[in-house]
Amino acid sequence: MTIIEGTLADIDGVRHGQIAIDNGIITAVGAHLGTPTHVYGDNCLIFAGMGDIHIHAREDITGKEMHKETFACVSAAALHGGVLHVADMPNNPAAPIDDASYAAKETLLHKQNLPVVFTLYGGIGPGTKPLTRNVPYKAYMGPSVGDLFFSTLEQLDATLAHYAGRAVSFHCEDPVLLEKHKVAATHEERRPPVCELSATRFALAMIEKYQLVGKLCHYSVGEGLPLIRAAKARGLSVTAEVTPHHVFFDTAQITPTNRQAMQMNPPLRSPSDREAMLEALRDGTADYLATDHAPHTLAEKAKGVSGQPHLDTYGPFVTWLIVEKGFTPERIAAICSANPGAFVNPYQKDKWGRLLPGYVGSMTVLDLKTPVTIRRKDLKTKCGWSPFEGVTFPGSVAAVFVRGLVYV
Ligand SMILES: [Zn+2]
Repeated sequence: MTIIEGTLADIDGVRHGQIAIDNGIITAVGAHLGTPTHVYGDNCLIFAGMGDIHIHAREDITGKEMHKETFACVSAAALHGGVLHVADMPNNPAAPIDDASYAAKETLLHKQNLPVVFTLYGGIGPGTKPLTRNVPYKAYMGPSVGDLFFSTLEQLDATLAHYAGRAVSFHCEDPVLLEKHKVAATHEERRPPVCELSATRFALAMIEKYQLVGKLCHYSVGEGLPLIRAAKARGLSVTAEVTPHHVFFDTAQITPTNRQAMQMNPPLRSPSDREAMLEALRDGTADYLATDHAPHTLAEKAKGVSGQPHLDTYGPFVTWLIVEKGFTPERIAAICSANPGAFVNPYQKDKWGRLLPGYVGSMTVLDLKTPVTIRRKDLKTKCGWSPFEGVTFPGSVAAVFVRGLVYV
């Protein structure tokens, strides 16, 4: 039996108390359950295990991208960043798009018996059909992600007709508009906000037409937020992710030296878009802090590959939201624990996201008073770099618990 004592932070409030964990599951939460095995002081907040529902672990049966990242390195980087469960995107060389390819990826993962829990997305590409089992899906609209993309939205519409009622996440960039802007001078001008806006309208129309459980990935355009709010208000099942990079960086911070590191899809936006994404996370328009952890090596980045690694720095970044940006612990519990938990719970045998009896005994403990400076040598991601190198966050990860066992 593990008994953890300290300041418990959940979506319904913050209180001093204890959590009892037996056989990996929370059995009780209360003021005094017994002699604690682990005590955390007032500088710490204890959250239900945080989850990052948008990552790229890069490992599949071909092994072609294991120089960038692996399931094992993702697990280590996630624990280092205070993340207990992740959801892995399907744009692998051997993309999991049907029962056989999905099962092959899952077998490869499960035989490694890693402490971090993975949910695997299935891919939607031209001509694919749903799996016989229940999995979350990812639909790419734009190019540059292997074969899993559509060159026209009509083609995607026809494919989505087979996925009625399923959970589908959308990468919102209109492929036709991307094509139109492809000769512009800079990465961000080649993928302007209008591409995401147009794709948002299309994704919301598809969610409505096929009654999907819809999610908009890595949302980045302020102008699109009223569309999401209106869709939620009229009862559509739609949620949205926001990444750390789209609330920390903007185009005003791009320099000739960091331009390649700061390249991702969708790209960095204007300072006002950055502020709008922060407010979206705060006011509930956005539902998840999800990183789009994209572990490309620095050599690949130098050749113009898009994406940034973020798992190692998830927890320290969250302390920045609390200490510097005034996010309440309850709101952090929503965007980092409860909402990611609700997203993966249909696919997991343990229940994630709350500090309540019956939920998994995995916790993230953040220390708001012990700053951490991000250094390359401390990172666990195999790609070996972070856009936050040299940044000092106001707090750090004090501990993570995996089914009642502490990992420091
Ligand atoms: Zn992604």
